[in-house]
Amino acid sequence: MDVGSRIRSAVPLRVAVLGSTGSIGASTLEVIAASDGEFVPFLLAAHRRTDLLLAQARAYLPQWIVVLDPAAALAMDRTGVPAETQVAVGPEALDELVQAPEIDRVVAAIVGAAGLRSTWAALEAGKTVALANKETLVMAGPLVMELAERSGGTIIPVDSEHSAIHQALRAGSADEVVRIVLTASGGPFRLRAVETLVSVTPAEALKHPTWSMGPKITIDSATMMNKALEIIEARWLFGVPAEKLGVLVHPQSIVHSMVEFIDGSVVAQMSPPDMKLPIQYALSYPQRLAGVARRFDFSQSMHLEFAAPDPQRFPAVGLGYAAAARGGTCGAVLNAANEEAVRGFLEGELRFTDIAEVCARVLDEHPFQPDPSLDDVRRLDAWARQEVVKWACV
Ligand code: NDP
Ligand code: MG
Repeated sequence: MDVGSRIRSAVPLRVAVLGSTGSIGASTLEVIAASDGEFVPFLLAAHRRTDLLLAQARAYLPQWIVVLDPAAALAMDRTGVPAETQVAVGPEALDELVQAPEIDRVVAAIVGAAGLRSTWAALEAGKTVALANKETLVMAGPLVMELAERSGGTIIPVDSEHSAIHQALRAGSADEVVRIVLTASGGPFRLRAVETLVSVTPAEALKHPTWSMGPKITIDSATMMNKALEIIEARWLFGVPAEKLGVLVHPQSIVHSMVEFIDGSVVAQMSPPDMKLPIQYALSYPQRLAGVARRFDFSQSMHLEFAAPDPQRFPAVGLGYAAAARGGTCGAVLNAANEEAVRGFLEGELRFTDIAEVCARVLDEHPFQPDPSLDDVRRLDAWARQEVVKWACV
């Protein structure tokens, strides 16, 4: 095959973008626009930003748009909806629409625990899900993997580390894997004096050195809670025990993760930090397509550093290992406590260093269940949020 040539699909792949108005959603639409008709948007869903959703509908002419917040739907100016597009409202409508036979791939890019139900509905219908919403696996990994197995659904990760691991795992068989190493940029406070972290402001924490992302994951990157969530995500997605998962701080964000095999070979995936590449990989897998993402300029010298994360600076990482090792309700509780703590930090109720501290406390004190149902997960999610609110009020 000529370098750069590609095998085109006979028919375009119809894509549902859940969370189209977010950072991953917008990058997904760029990938779709650049695909030369390989991918077409069938459905776009957002929460409240209806102006942006309508602008996307006019630009991409999907069959459906879904507004998840009923109040925002009520206030939306429907004269802006293109003639080709129908409108649906609320999470129940999305659960049903995401199962439509016309949909070939679902990009799950809603942020937080709110993304679980639509991802669940898509998998229930046996869809192939390009999963950005890591919280789905963090909260209910074993249940979600079991569901996919039962329904014939497939999860292709969008998270850059897990996309890298997915790619690297193609170099060997599962029983040849010794270790998986997730890389982390270290965020904006990698070198800041540890004793000053207590006074970090939201504006400082929202400035990420290498990635441009939504606010919640940007704060998670600053605390490295993002890596904690990703350890849990990897544990369930790839079915590897916590002790086989490692983390290295790699400030350049070029090596997105690596897999070590029994013979000592380490296979890494490298590319400039640009989410369009893992998004496109998840849409086109098992093929690769000519890409829209940034590429390396090999005429420039490249310097790559790796270091173990400092547990004093990043206590959240240890919580990820503990939750991945213990399983059960730990992921759901850690995720919910963190979501509430991040909200509290952004709204000035909590200090930066309180985030990991309150998460550790809630995780420690929660009524652990080793084999929870989805209802147990939801109940403990709500419980953990309340605990953080109580803690913030003391
Ligand atoms: P953003 O905050 O940029 O976007 C979030 C999207 O979710 C928006 O479309 C938003 O709609 C929608 N949304 C927010 N709250 C709700 C809710 N309660 N119910 C339904 N929809 C809701 O997030 P990102 O794009 O950064 O992240 C999306 C997911 O991808 C997260 O799970 C994150 O961890 C993961 N991820 C992101 C990466 C990145 O580079 N950004 C990298 C790896 C993973 P509206 O705009 O209307 O509010
Ligand atoms: Mg990631």
